[in-house]
Amino acid sequence: MPPPDHLPGTAYGCHTVVMPFSATTDRVVSKPRGRAPSPKGTYLSRASRGGQLPATPFTTPAASSASSVLAVAVPTPLRRLFDYRPCATPPPNGWRPGLRVQVPFGRREVIGIVVECRTHSEFPLADLKPVSAWLDSDPLPDDWLWLCRFAARYYQHSLGDTLHQSLPVLLRQGRPLEARTRERWQLTARGRGASRDDLGRARRQAELLELLQQHPRGLAVNVITAQGFGRAQLDGLLEKGLAEASSEPLIAAPTPAANQLLSEPSLPLKREQAEALAAMHEGLDRFHPCLLHGVTGSGKTEVYLQLIEAVVARGRQALVLVPEIGLTPQTLQRFRKRFRVPVVALHSGLSDGERLDAWLAAASGRAPIVIGTRSAVFTPLASPGAIIVDEEHDGSLKQQDGLRYHARDLAVARAHRDAIPLVLGSATPSLETLAQARSGRYRHLRLMNRASRHAPARMELIDLRGRPRRGGLVPPVTEAIRATLAAGHQVLVFINRRGFAPTLACHACGWMAECDHCDARLTLHRQPHHLACHHCDHKQALPDACPTCGSADLRPLGAGTERTEETLAELFPEVPVHRIDRDSTRRKDALENMLGEVRRGEPCLLVGTQMLAKGHHLPHVTLVVVVNADAGLYASDFRALEQNAQLLVQVAGRAGRAEHPGRVLVQTLHSDDPQLRQLADNGYDALAEQLLAERRAAGLPPYRFMALARFESPREADATALASGAGQALREWLAGSLEVHCLGPVPAPMERRQNRYHVQLMLSGAQRSKLHEASAWLVAWLEASRDARRVRWSLDIDPQTLS
Ligand code: ADP
Ligand code: ZN
Ligand code: ZN
Repeated sequence: MPPPDHLPGTAYGCHTVVMPFSATTDRVVSKPRGRAPSPKGTYLSRASRGGQLPATPFTTPAASSASSVLAVAVPTPLRRLFDYRPCATPPPNGWRPGLRVQVPFGRREVIGIVVECRTHSEFPLADLKPVSAWLDSDPLPDDWLWLCRFAARYYQHSLGDTLHQSLPVLLRQGRPLEARTRERWQLTARGRGASRDDLGRARRQAELLELLQQHPRGLAVNVITAQGFGRAQLDGLLEKGLAEASSEPLIAAPTPAANQLLSEPSLPLKREQAEALAAMHEGLDRFHPCLLHGVTGSGKTEVYLQLIEAVVARGRQALVLVPEIGLTPQTLQRFRKRFRVPVVALHSGLSDGERLDAWLAAASGRAPIVIGTRSAVFTPLASPGAIIVDEEHDGSLKQQDGLRYHARDLAVARAHRDAIPLVLGSATPSLETLAQARSGRYRHLRLMNRASRHAPARMELIDLRGRPRRGGLVPPVTEAIRATLAAGHQVLVFINRRGFAPTLACHACGWMAECDHCDARLTLHRQPHHLACHHCDHKQALPDACPTCGSADLRPLGAGTERTEETLAELFPEVPVHRIDRDSTRRKDALENMLGEVRRGEPCLLVGTQMLAKGHHLPHVTLVVVVNADAGLYASDFRALEQNAQLLVQVAGRAGRAEHPGRVLVQTLHSDDPQLRQLADNGYDALAEQLLAERRAAGLPPYRFMALARFESPREADATALASGAGQALREWLAGSLEVHCLGPVPAPMERRQNRYHVQLMLSGAQRSKLHEASAWLVAWLEASRDARRVRWSLDIDPQTLS
């Protein structure tokens, strides 16, 4: 295997950077350890290990009995560990990395995690405070600890905060590492030999006895009560010595029989699918990254399902990451219907208890299949077998605050460390992933054909210039909608702005409603009537007259989902119009209810934002209308074109997924724009090639790496002063070296947001290691800077947006 230089951060070592810590130790009781740990050894040794399974669910390094110093990560933004002395009574299995401990920290007691057991400290041992208590006798999972250390180092974030954020809430609070349990009932030897008659007139007990006789492995108590039996019958059998109860975790281990894995047969694969799966099968025991690049509806999910089947049949676990929008009941249903083994879903709807159960089930290996959104990448796995990242290009895989990680990139690191296959799936792969596939580092698996009869529809560009618009739609488009509905089909109208209109304008003087707190226009909403800023949460009533000239002629400018919905309802009163955006789906289940109705297949209109564009299988939609394709065309962000193209292709992919062919109409003011033409005429892949060539020529990712330092403050001068100071210091440190460029400070694209001024420094370099060294230096400088206390700053490695 080639050296993993394509992995984020392998060459990076912030231990090589001397951190100029200032004297902030007075704020903490124990002493800072002074530098970040060097986790290099673990990373390389595990990666070359091959695909062995850990012997026990939680493999842990050997206990260290001699340790006199514990380096503990505590939940604080400070990027360092803190040294403590062990408490008088050691944990039964000795001090080990990964143990939760309660420690004094400032005036509080907090829960931290032992990261290293040392024999010495840079500080006199007498100065160190002892740990107050240990919480676990066995450490938290080794793979989770490894990933957190990797992520903290790569994203230059506090390890304490990383560990804290990626733990289930109950574990953060100190709850024991125990899953909730329920009773499981089974027959005793006597019970197995008993017959109905032995129970005389206890008819219900006899029925329960017979039920349990049909289930030699026993039944969970909830299954028994679901069949109408109660305590009385259970206690009856217990007293007679016929049945007994044991306890099992709520998420129980699956039965071992591999031939019982599936509860419905898998589909016979089409040729391309079979070839892709065969390619994946070649690398089940090693790090084997594949890009599954298949048009929308080509059956990528079926390939995932069959890969998972192979993984689970070998006694391993599969981790599936999906975008926020993707973890719908429909998707989950598809996985749960296929497998007889538990499919554990990690999503925002879980209670704290459910989340802990799921985490422990994954960590102990009881959950063979784990599916979740971004943060699920941190789920520990006892015997990892494969990681799948669906819609790997999706923006929601990148966290935009705190630890700004990209779940796809962490998945790469994780699969590499565990020496397991990794599948990145998309119809519109990110340019980063495409570049890896083109260079041969990832295997490029293509699905060019849809599993259903019809190829994805071509995009037809509809020129908006000089045509009257109603609700944002021009006459030829309205006619196409009419014809589609008349044929008994459904229409999806995509408009990427919620609200009634993007703004309210004065027809007399040109004034436009703007947010008092941001450099942004206010959106007009009608349901209910108000103006709202989509960047801060500011809302206000509509003015009666123009605040500038006093005219009462205020009109909505442009169209949002509400306005298009209203127009369509007027134009097509005979069919229902469903609006699907963040406002209309606030209520739990609202989205699923609406989609459920749509799937019944009656002619209808769907108006929605990108919530509707991704992932949903809407078999009766044959016409897709894009109200305005121009959003990304002239944006300042260098990724805007790529993201706009991905979104358009995803939206277009909703058309004609079942029996009838689809049509896609894309309205634009720039129908001769070469890039939009390229996308419409030759598809995403052709455009991506072109964009990659442009990125290479311009020295942009994926051919150069970026880090963005953001500064914000209520006072513009403070933010700018700190950013300039940091930029200048960094440039001096770089001493004219050309390996890393530092640009700025420049104002953020939206400089004022929520009354705070945003300024940025942009770092870029051709080598990750150099860029990381420079950003680590910058972070250390900022942590030591006095001015930094008045300004909120953050560092974003591999930023996905420059806003
Ligand atoms: P993708 O994930 O690539 O968008 P899906 O896996 O959702 O595609 O497949 C689209 C549709 O095609 C689904 O309804 C699926 O059941 C069907 N499908 C996938 N593979 C096959 C196959 N081999 N034979 C028949 N139908 C298939
Ligand atoms: Zn006016
Ligand atoms: Zn605002």
